[in-house]
Amino acid sequence: MQIIDKIYIDGAFVTPHGDELFDLVNPSTEQVIGRVRLADAEDARAAIAAAKRAFPAFSRTGKAERVAMLRRMHAAVVAKEDELFEAIVEEYGAPVSRGRWMASHASDVLLQMANTLENYSFVRRAGSAEVVMQPLGVAGLITPWNSNAGFICGKLAAALAAGCTAVIKPSEMSAIQTRVITEALHEAGLPAGVFNIVTGRGETVGAEISSHPDIAKISFTGSTAVGKTILRTAADTLKRVTLELGGKSPMIVLDDANFDEAVPLALQAGFMNSGQACIAGTRILVPQARLAEFEQKMADAVADIQSGDPRDPHTSIGPMVNQKQWERVQRCIRIGVDEGARLIAGGEGRPDGAKAGWFVRPTVFSDVRNDMTIAREEIFGPVLSIIAYRDTEDAIRIANDTPYGLQAYVCSSDATRASAVASQIEAGRVLVNTLAHEPAAPFGGFKQSGIGREYGTFGLEAFLEPKSLLGSV
Ligand code: NAD
Repeated sequence: MQIIDKIYIDGAFVTPHGDELFDLVNPSTEQVIGRVRLADAEDARAAIAAAKRAFPAFSRTGKAERVAMLRRMHAAVVAKEDELFEAIVEEYGAPVSRGRWMASHASDVLLQMANTLENYSFVRRAGSAEVVMQPLGVAGLITPWNSNAGFICGKLAAALAAGCTAVIKPSEMSAIQTRVITEALHEAGLPAGVFNIVTGRGETVGAEISSHPDIAKISFTGSTAVGKTILRTAADTLKRVTLELGGKSPMIVLDDANFDEAVPLALQAGFMNSGQACIAGTRILVPQARLAEFEQKMADAVADIQSGDPRDPHTSIGPMVNQKQWERVQRCIRIGVDEGARLIAGGEGRPDGAKAGWFVRPTVFSDVRNDMTIAREEIFGPVLSIIAYRDTEDAIRIANDTPYGLQAYVCSSDATRASAVASQIEAGRVLVNTLAHEPAAPFGGFKQSGIGREYGTFGLEAFLEPKSLLGSV
């Protein structure tokens, strides 16, 4: 049983003013494994004040100094990788292979931003003016539970690289992972107040950060609904905002695709992170003429997918993060059936043999129309929809017929044709015959999937403001 009763403000682990206790539950067993004492709005204000005090000196640090800090942070997180991996599997339920990737991703993003910063010039010319890129001020970083350490480190890396100081509010459901990361980052020995970590509820700590006049910038990853609330709140003080929100990504399988490649790709894209991924390819668009063939291969492949104990190396789908999320997924499956979609794999209830834990059966629907609830709403679980299309034009139309636009996938045996389709998709990222990640490329959404971009130079500039100097030497 882990008791987490400290938050991190001004370079020190301190007892929060907030006194609400929140249970941390292992989603694979439903056992309580820890308890966290949550911060409140007063703690958030103390953290913002510390970050504000630290900003003047920190914003004047040089590039080399900040690169060195990011490298120290990277080394400190690498040193805690095994402990972080254990926390990810225990508290979040990530299958071991995914958990390993998540644990190393947290340190990778720090190193990647160090490299971006090294090659970035803060001064450039525009006509007769000199343009200087200046840090925005204190940044509020608000993150979800589905990749806790990666989001904390990624957002913090970009903020610090720019010369901003930060107040981080991670999800309250990830407090054990946050403790490991906070201890690691503390080891890196940054000046007090440069980053502060206050685990608390969204309605209190998150709301305080979103409204506080001393916060200049919000970088938020989470649901579209909360993103809209933050945007409205931030409007009063005209904060800069980066919002990384939900998705309903299409996987377009073109009629020339080799289904022996397309089906595994579609399943990996759809079930990644146990389906709890904003970029999951949840709408699989398949040519009507080859639908039966695709369905058969899909049903065969899903039969081999194991949803269960995340510590079993054969498992590729772990539990949903909590009961609420499990119930939401069950409800969506029920709605799919009620609205007339046809189950070709999975369905309601736990997988055979699972008595406890928030496990879901890997589920695939066919005969889905794009106006059905399961094709419109983000389910955030391992539930996929196959939607038949007539021709390529129809596929593109369906792919774009969504309020979201985070990511899309195109699968074809003709790369030129696939690229032509990709160019017509309204999404921040389109992956052609691959699931590869490119950390230097911008990441973010079109439409209601968000505002702004993260990663690489675009991510760094999200924490900077251009200032034009005219007539200076
Ligand atoms: P959420 O929106 O409920 O919460 C995200 C964070 O916001 C949490 O820390 C929460 O405490 C905080 N929050 C809640 N209410 C708030 C408020 N009123 N003011 C300020 N902060 C508040 O999302 P979640 O359930 O934690 O995560 C799942 C969602 O995140 C999904 O919709 C998913 O698509 C999205 N997501 C997006 C990306 C991306 O990069 N686009 C990545 C991962 C997850």
